[in-house]
Amino acid sequence: MLGLMQKQPLLVSNLLSFAERHHGDSEIVSRRVEGDLHRCTYRDVARRARQLANALDAWGELPGARIGTLAWNGYRHLELYYAAGGSGRVVHTLNPRLHPEQIVWIVNHADDQALFFDLTFLPIVQAICKQCPGVRHWVALTDEEHLPRDTGIPGLLAYESVLAEHGDDYSWPEFDENTACGMCYTSGTTGHPKAVLYSNRSSVLHAYAASLPDVMALSARDVVLPVVPMFHVNAWGIPYSAPLVGAKLVFPGPGLDGKSLYELMESERVTFAAGVPTVWQMLLTHLQTHSLRFSTLQRTVIGGSACPPAMIDTFERDYGVRAMHAWGMTEMSPLGTLATLKSKHDGMDESLKRTLLAKQGRAIFGVDMKIVGDDGRALPHDGQTFGDLYVKGPWVVEGYYRQAGEGPLVNGWFPTGDVATIDEDGYLQITDRSKDVIKSGGEWISSIAIENLAMSHPGVAMAACIGMPHPKWDERPIVVVARRPGSTVSREELLQHYHGKAAKWQVPDDVIFVDAIPLGATGKMLKTRLREQLKDYRWPGA
Ligand code: AMP
Repeated sequence: MLGLMQKQPLLVSNLLSFAERHHGDSEIVSRRVEGDLHRCTYRDVARRARQLANALDAWGELPGARIGTLAWNGYRHLELYYAAGGSGRVVHTLNPRLHPEQIVWIVNHADDQALFFDLTFLPIVQAICKQCPGVRHWVALTDEEHLPRDTGIPGLLAYESVLAEHGDDYSWPEFDENTACGMCYTSGTTGHPKAVLYSNRSSVLHAYAASLPDVMALSARDVVLPVVPMFHVNAWGIPYSAPLVGAKLVFPGPGLDGKSLYELMESERVTFAAGVPTVWQMLLTHLQTHSLRFSTLQRTVIGGSACPPAMIDTFERDYGVRAMHAWGMTEMSPLGTLATLKSKHDGMDESLKRTLLAKQGRAIFGVDMKIVGDDGRALPHDGQTFGDLYVKGPWVVEGYYRQAGEGPLVNGWFPTGDVATIDEDGYLQITDRSKDVIKSGGEWISSIAIENLAMSHPGVAMAACIGMPHPKWDERPIVVVARRPGSTVSREELLQHYHGKAAKWQVPDDVIFVDAIPLGATGKMLKTRLREQLKDYRWPGA
């Protein structure tokens, strides 16, 4: 028997319409490429998104058309999310940190019909436009006054002029909730990147889940700063979950350095921020160097790569900010787990609480997780046994766009490529990417655990642990370290730092100092690059 409830599809356009109706005066503040701080409201964004949807109609872009963006976090990017996704088209966010050749490949593979870009990325667009014949509309996210001339970009338009030509009388269409609304290519360090195609349904469900108290705990009282980019995995879905609760949004634009972020957080009274560890490292360094405090920040979500426990402690102890470790991936929209305590942990010893909160956290309803061994069989959730992590759920990828051959799923589960433990209470701990696992004398060593210990030394800014081929033990770990400015920490001091904190056989055999650890387009350490750089490495004494 079917239920007798309304079958209204879950559409992203409803999120913005809701925010317009019930939180119309909630502010959206954006640092712009033009240099100023721009203020508008959900009411303005909704109106302008409708104008843009009218423009896309007038251009004759069909349902399903891919609308590419190369843009920072800002109100215009938000309008694009909704104008494209809400009108049955697809906002395709491109990562400007990729090499232009990769961007060309992605634009052509996705068959983008339009490309909207911030002026920062004008040189990229100039470099790629001739190689992207399918793109019919090139639009700079600015007004006529700031539009550069003689760029060589065919028919370049100013965004504000496009909007000005169209009225805001537009009704968001109703269609199947499984219709695509967003697209993002994985960062793929090997081979071509793969395209994840989010649906209206997956995006709305993810937005609900992200707002829950044990997840981001978002509300209409929050002032939310997504530092995580809208050009990669939809800024962790914040452009959808903030309108769902009516939170004020603060967009940092290109100002991602510690000083700019801090000033924006203070002037706009930000209560909640989300970012990757490298960005928070810059912010914390700025605070420490200038003896500053946060006056309004309450919570921050940290993920995208492993957050060193020392960073969670610093936020908590020195600044009174709750730092929540989260794990996810492009293929998961991205949220999978987030670390918060249960009531049964209230009386728990503080150091045990910290250990628990340093893990990647518990599954959010909507994400099923299991770990499996080499034989594909499920392993126990005992917090000790580690295996390949598989997930499934309504906002987890089923297949990649235009990928030939078999899809990624194994018996309905998506293999994440991460290696993890899960404990009795469901807390997940990522130990490695499967390709980074270090096998030493038949034992596995978690590179993340070794990196975290290095980063708990005050002289270390960033550390990458990699396995080096070893004549006796198969592989042995070495740790590549970027010191903090002014630090003189030595190899011996650092190796000594491990003693008593890790089993003897887990202590790295060598430390190599570098000026900076190479980072990929999404801020993750590029271990492939490090391995290349160290291909002539010889063991001390060898
Ligand atoms: P991406 O698809 O670019 O967002 O990358 C997803 C991958 O980043 C995951 O599969 C993990 O390997 C890694 N990752 C994300 N969050 C974390 C975290 N909190 N701890 C460790 N690794 C993480």
